[in-house]
Amino acid sequence: MIDLHVHTTASDGSDTPAEVVEKAAAIGLSAIAITDHDTVEGIDSAMAAGKEHRVEVVPGIEISTEYAGHDIHILGYYIDYASAKLQPVLDWVINDRNARNEKIIEKLASDGYDISIEELKAKHPDTVIGRPHIAECLLEKGYVNSVAQAFSEFLAKGRPYFLPRKYLPLQRTIDVIREAGGIAVIAHPLQYRFDNEDLKKFLKTAKDMGAEGMEVIYPKYSDEQSAFLSSIADYMSLLKTGGSDYHGSIKPDIKLGVGMGAMNVPDEYLDMLKRRR
Ligand code: AMP
Ligand code: ZN
Ligand code: FE
Ligand code: FE
Repeated sequence: MIDLHVHTTASDGSDTPAEVVEKAAAIGLSAIAITDHDTVEGIDSAMAAGKEHRVEVVPGIEISTEYAGHDIHILGYYIDYASAKLQPVLDWVINDRNARNEKIIEKLASDGYDISIEELKAKHPDTVIGRPHIAECLLEKGYVNSVAQAFSEFLAKGRPYFLPRKYLPLQRTIDVIREAGGIAVIAHPLQYRFDNEDLKKFLKTAKDMGAEGMEVIYPKYSDEQSAFLSSIADYMSLLKTGGSDYHGSIKPDIKLGVGMGAMNVPDEYLDMLKRRR
C-alpha cells in the first residue's frame, strides 16, 4: 500500500512530517509522498523519519494555480527541493499568502473576533499559514462548530472574510516543477467541475504545457470515476497517481492510506513515476 498525496504541519496538515511517517509505518504503508501546499519544508524531516521507520518518502509539493477561472492544483513529484529555481517562486506565493492572512485577520479583529496574527504564528511556527488555520482558530474559540462552517460562513469565496490570493499561472507552475527536476501531475481532476468534454480539453492543454500525469485515485472518487480517469490517462499516455490528501484533524473524515476507508493505490503507480524520473 502507498499514499502519494499527504499534507503535514508544514502546510495545513495537523501531523508533523515525522508523525505522518510513523502513522504510515503503523498501518503498513511502504511509501508516502509529502505534498504540502506551496512548501518543501516538511520533506527533510519526513525523509529522516522514513529511514528510521522503513517507509519510502517521495519528495513532493502541491501548488495551486489559476487556469481559465479554475483553481487547479498541481502536484510535483521528485522535485529537487533544494533547487534555486524553486524557492524564489515559493517565496512569492508565501509572501502573498502572509499579506492576505494579515488582512483577513485584521478584518475579523476589527469586527470583534478575538484573533491575532501573532497567536496564529505562535501556534504554527514552521507552517505556511492559510485559511484552514484561521478556520481552526475560529473553531477553537467557539465562533463556529466546524472548520467547514468557518469556511461556509466566514472564509469561502463570497463570504465576508474572503480575500483572493495570487496564483501562479498553470504554465508557470508546471515549468517551475520541471525546472526543479520534478514530474508535474494534475491533482484530483474531478474537483474542478469541468464537464467531460472540457475536462479532456483541459487535460490535453495541461499535457501540452508539460504535465506528465494525473491523479486517478482519490478518496471521494468511485471505482467508476477512477476507471474513467484511468482510461483517459492511458489513452493520453499520462502517468497515473493516487492518494488520500490526508490532512489529519482538519479533514477528519480522511484517513492516511485508505481515504474514507476503501481507497487503495497500486504500488505500480510509484514504480511508473520512478521510471519516468
Ligand atoms: P488557502 O490556500 O489559504 O486559500 O486555503 C485553501 C485550503 O482550504 C484548501 O486547500 C482546502 O484544504 C481548504 N478549504 C477550502 N475550502 C474549504 C471548505 N469549504 N471547507 C473546508 N476546507 C476548505
Ligand atoms: Zn490543504
Ligand atoms: Fe488539492
Ligand atoms: Fe492536497
